[in-house]
Amino acid sequence: MSDKSENRIEIHFPSGHLGASTDDDALNLIIRALSLKHGQPGEWADKYGTNYEDEIIAIHRYCWCEGDSCPWCASDAPNFLHKPSGFTVRWYKYIGREMNVNMQPPRGLVDLVTDADIVALSEKTEETRSGFAEMLKGPK
Ligand SMILES: [Zn+2]
Repeated sequence: MSDKSENRIEIHFPSGHLGASTDDDALNLIIRALSLKHGQPGEWADKYGTNYEDEIIAIHRYCWCEGDSCPWCASDAPNFLHKPSGFTVRWYKYIGREMNVNMQPPRGLVDLVTDADIVALSEKTEETRSGFAEMLKGPK
């Protein structure tokens, strides 16, 4: 360790703490974009997700109610479900934090997100639109 680093302070945030970032992986980005698209104004859906369901997907925010009959607290209902494939994602508090999945993300998942959804997400953040476009192309 150099002399310089002895005085360095490191602050570690859990992944997702500050919202969307170009450090996010594609799955994280897709869920954020879908949540923002279907969320309510002021809900911070791009960070926490939203409660939404249609024929293809179901999204549910992390739940803190601790209710005995709550599917998310008393059981392990997923925060994101892709109905055609049965693909599920669970996260802790916010999208991206301690995310776990039940299988590889299915083909077609990315097709649920349009360019307009990505633009809307990037406009919610300080990240550049081109940064998100690079992410969707895959690992550098
Ligand atoms: Zn609950």
